[in-house]
Amino acid sequence: MDKRKIAVIGGGAAGMVAAGYAASLGAEVTLFERNTLLGKKLGITGKGRCNVTNNCTPDEFIKNVTANGKFLYSAINRFTPEDTMEFFEELGVPLKTERGNRVYPESDNAVDIVLALKKNCIKNGVRIVTERVTAFIKNEEGTLTGVVTEKRSHHDFDAVILCTGGVSYPVTGSTGDGYTLAQSVGHTIKTPTPSLVGLTSDDEICAATMGLSLKNIAISVTDNTKKKVIYKDFGEMLFCHFGVSGPVILSASAHLRPMEKHRYTVSIDLKPALDMQTLDRRLLSDFDKFKNRNFANAFDELLPSKLREPFIKICGVAPDKKINAVTAEERKRVVTLLKNLPVQITGFRPITEAIVTSGGVSIKEIEPQTMRSKLCPNLYFAGEVMDLDAYTGGFNLQIAFATAHAAAEAAVWQ
Ligand SMILES: Cc1cc2nc3c(=O)[nH]c(=O)nc-3n(C[C@H](O)[C@H](O)[C@H](O)COP(=O)(O)OP(=O)(O)OC[C@H]3O[C@@H](n4cnc5c(N)ncnc54)[C@H](O)[C@@H]3O)c2cc1C
Repeated sequence: MDKRKIAVIGGGAAGMVAAGYAASLGAEVTLFERNTLLGKKLGITGKGRCNVTNNCTPDEFIKNVTANGKFLYSAINRFTPEDTMEFFEELGVPLKTERGNRVYPESDNAVDIVLALKKNCIKNGVRIVTERVTAFIKNEEGTLTGVVTEKRSHHDFDAVILCTGGVSYPVTGSTGDGYTLAQSVGHTIKTPTPSLVGLTSDDEICAATMGLSLKNIAISVTDNTKKKVIYKDFGEMLFCHFGVSGPVILSASAHLRPMEKHRYTVSIDLKPALDMQTLDRRLLSDFDKFKNRNFANAFDELLPSKLREPFIKICGVAPDKKINAVTAEERKRVVTLLKNLPVQITGFRPITEAIVTSGGVSIKEIEPQTMRSKLCPNLYFAGEVMDLDAYTGGFNLQIAFATAHAAAEAAVWQ
């Protein structure tokens, strides 16, 4: 019997796994990558360490998928985080699990993951073509038979797996070509928006405290239109020249839809371990200790130095007021602000800076078991090109790997 001929478009996380796996199942696979190197984005993941998956159960995994988690149910149960770990260990990359079940290569080097996937492709006989795909070739029935690249046409494929990623970090090659290709066979693209991205704010406090990282804080995000708290988290954040960033802010960004100027307020609880009453007692004791000082020097033991001046400004108490003259009402305002320091959000940072793209090829037009297009019989999808995204923690790469497995299997066996 003739081998199935499969074109995989995009040599990133999803494409390399799909190509290697399809070839290992006996298909003749051509992997198209527009860059001269495979896995350019993969090589910078996890700050160069590659958080390759999250060591959790499929159910926990789905809870961490912020868009369309249920769609992944079948794929993730057939290629679990445990399978990902076993896969890389078998490819000769020892792994370790860190805080939050985040899994990294023991070497702390993302390049080891890229090289292992590339080696796996080569070992299984994948033909790598470093050309940018610009169009599909279809027959009269609408079945794909080939692809056009910037250099030439490639014919006689039985199936195509589209793994071109989203539009974040376009320097790595993900520029949204997959959306145009999917649209050319009738697919709908849910408008791409940034996710896991910094948030902009005009509030003076951000520029004034630029570079300040706050650890062990809690945040709650209010949707001012719905007058509802929509997100809460605990951890680390960062003030930047543009607004706010850092782990809890990136995670919060996945929930801020639709984004509208001043629709969302991030409230920072600077002292999450203390309730209002305990914090008030602590403040009273500090005020008593420093009673002859000016209000400007009241927070030497309570707040990081960079935050003190902007915080005092927000309190609305004159900095040269003597602490023993601060009224009970003013103290109450201080306690409230320590527990709820507001930052008004004006928008997302650009999508080019986002860790992932939210939106993409509508999952309503894709079969969840096989990743096969419902509109084009021999087109399959894998990875971020689809309208799927998750929190940080290794979940996005796990989406790429699980969907790549499902797509490869179906493309070879259907
Ligand atoms: C800075 C950063 C850090 C991250 N860290 C992590 C992390 O630690 N853990 C985690 O789980 N996720 C992380 N992510 C997210 C993760 O990298 C992506 O979700 C994942 O790479 C998506 O894989 P993909 O294969 O779908 O797309 P990509 O990895 O973007 O690969 C798509 C590939 O397709 C190629 N391509 C595009 N168009 C064409 C075309 N027309 N012809 C041929 N080739 C084409 C591109 O060049 C690219 O190589 C991070 C993302 C960023 C930006």
